[in-house]
Amino acid sequence: MSEIIDCPSPNFDDRSLPVSILVLHYTGMQDAASAISWLINPTSKVSCHYVVAEDGQVLRLVEEEKRAWHAGRSKWRGITDVNSASIGIEIVNPGHEWGYRPFPEAQMTALTPLVAEIVRTFDIAPANVVGHSDVAPARKQDPGELFDWERLARLGLALPRPGRSLADPHWTDGGFLLALDRFGYDVADGPAAVRAFQRRWRPEAIDGVIDGQCRAILLSLLLDRERGHAR
Ligand SMILES: [Zn+2]
Repeated sequence: MSEIIDCPSPNFDDRSLPVSILVLHYTGMQDAASAISWLINPTSKVSCHYVVAEDGQVLRLVEEEKRAWHAGRSKWRGITDVNSASIGIEIVNPGHEWGYRPFPEAQMTALTPLVAEIVRTFDIAPANVVGHSDVAPARKQDPGELFDWERLARLGLALPRPGRSLADPHWTDGGFLLALDRFGYDVADGPAAVRAFQRRWRPEAIDGVIDGQCRAILLSLLLDRERGHAR
């Protein structure tokens, strides 16, 4: 891993849970400098553990043992204080508001070993390497549908998208949301939860409509977990 530059943020406090989740974000601001100055500004009340710039430079804002303020009001697999239970990485990208664009190779090359190191340090399950939109579906879209989850999955750092020849279980929409809740999503806002699921698992069609492919992917994810293929 290349050298990490310390850029301390005052926006943190103490954890009340052990680390079991890694949350990936995009910065969603016009450029890296404005994002970083916001994340270290005491009045913003937001921060993260690491920022990964588009050129691959990694900054450390909050020590891993501390609770950074990146997830906000969130929920994942029953945990509602996601900040206490997670490490947060902000990946520099203007985001949907300022011109969402692919994550450059240099950035992904820097991000991947950082994720690997964190996953190894805290023994984070691949199913708990998630996007901000997964833990706050009604509020967030980051890191978004252009993020290359498969690249992390190939290294065993995140769950892969289930393969072909999946059977549609023909759940009702209510049944799908129950299954989504079982997988870990907050389904209080059903359509938002469906869109978050699609953004992560079927990014080519984020329409909020539950179809056979969505049902089949979710069934496969749940079966893999029950069979012990995925944590
Ligand atoms: Zn975020």
